[in-house]
Amino acid sequence: MKKFIICTLALIPALALGQSDHSLTVDKWGRDTVYTKVQHVVGFTTPGSTVTFNGEAVKVYKTGSFGKKVELSEGPNTIIVTSVYGGVSVSDTLNRFYTTDRPARPQADLPLTITTSLYVETTEGAYFNYGKGADRLGGAKVCFVDAGIPLEVVEEFGNLYKVKVAENKYFHIPKEYTSPIEDAPVRDVTTNNWSVTNMGDFDRVAISLNTKHPYIFRQVLEDKSIVIDIYGAQCNSNWLTQRVPLGMVKYVDLEQVEYDVFRAKIFLNDYSWGTKVYYQGSTLMIDVKHQPELTLKGMVIGVDAGHGGPSSTGAVSISGLKEKELNLDMAYTLKEELEKKGAKVVLSRKDDSGMTMAERKKIFLENNVDLVISIHCNAAGSPLDVKGSSTYYKYIHNRPLAEAILLRTLELEGVTNFGLVGNFNFSLNGPIEYPNVLVETQFLSNPEDEERIADPAFRKAYMKKVIKGLEDYLKSLK
Ligand SMILES: [Zn+2]
Repeated sequence: MKKFIICTLALIPALALGQSDHSLTVDKWGRDTVYTKVQHVVGFTTPGSTVTFNGEAVKVYKTGSFGKKVELSEGPNTIIVTSVYGGVSVSDTLNRFYTTDRPARPQADLPLTITTSLYVETTEGAYFNYGKGADRLGGAKVCFVDAGIPLEVVEEFGNLYKVKVAENKYFHIPKEYTSPIEDAPVRDVTTNNWSVTNMGDFDRVAISLNTKHPYIFRQVLEDKSIVIDIYGAQCNSNWLTQRVPLGMVKYVDLEQVEYDVFRAKIFLNDYSWGTKVYYQGSTLMIDVKHQPELTLKGMVIGVDAGHGGPSSTGAVSISGLKEKELNLDMAYTLKEELEKKGAKVVLSRKDDSGMTMAERKKIFLENNVDLVISIHCNAAGSPLDVKGSSTYYKYIHNRPLAEAILLRTLELEGVTNFGLVGNFNFSLNGPIEYPNVLVETQFLSNPEDEERIADPAFRKAYMKKVIKGLEDYLKSLK
């Protein structure tokens, strides 16, 4: 689209000293042509300035950030933002063309049906998606699956394969986590006997099959169970040997939910402290970690500072604060405060270096952490409406922990509730090997939240609330 509006920055000459220090930046994020009547206009200037929008006063926060919702008229609109500091006046002009005539969205690509037989097997790091839907963090994921599981491809869609795992059951898998194989997967086996054994630090549930079959992992909150669905399998498990006493597994049970979908049900004494699901030969192994001592003293806690390095700054606040720096600062504070309570802390990122999600997970697994807390700051469109503290989990057993932390952070003065977010697609919420929660402290895009998080005393207070929430959670378990 042709840009027909040009934004200009006009420095108005003044006599006062300090003129060169006085600055004004109006966030011109977004398009010149807009389709919503109310626009959030934010920016920052020298702290202590007075700011006006077309002559009307606007609040300036301690950080120098300011913002106002502006109602546009149809057609061209001009907003002159003026900041005055020490007698020096600086102006910036924002032009927006408002129309209700929104162009139609382009049609989505159609999937490609596979006409000849195509078989693949999963590779290291593979996971299933429910469908071909996608958002900022990718399509909704079911769970990670082990390598070497044969699959039948029935459709191709962009970088995904649609695979058939049972008569009425399909998943999507990224092509990059598959490699081609010759033979069609066997889709009609019976399950054999199980054994459940206390291995010291964990209980091992071993389900014998004739070949590796696709499976998915799920948690149920009400009965504190783990559910594994195995596809293309019928029940012939007539011996479920449970070598009591077990550490974390209360008992096991099974269910044939469809003719070719077999369900293993593992009931726990409490919410999961970690599970590993993998094949040893063609036996499906489910290792269920025992509950640690319910005290921070001696507990091993993974603390993850989100983002880092030159390519992942994370959000940038209105006044220019970088999320990666705030996250690292808070991660160190959290470490210090947890260590005071006798916990052992494992940091993923220790400095401003880039780190992949897989690298972070590897560090936590190698250190056999009891749980992981990932620290981030949030950002959103509609910066003047969207604010608050929030916590996130994917698997439902992590919900009580995420909730306990969120509730404590809401005790801080001025902090509002953005929410408790479930089935979240963030990579570090994906591991089932340890409980984990993502903490999105405050919105850097909101000037009120930004003012709070810019204050080191607030960041420390917030981290102490995270610990309080963690302690509440431990106390709630028996
Ligand atoms: Zn982030």
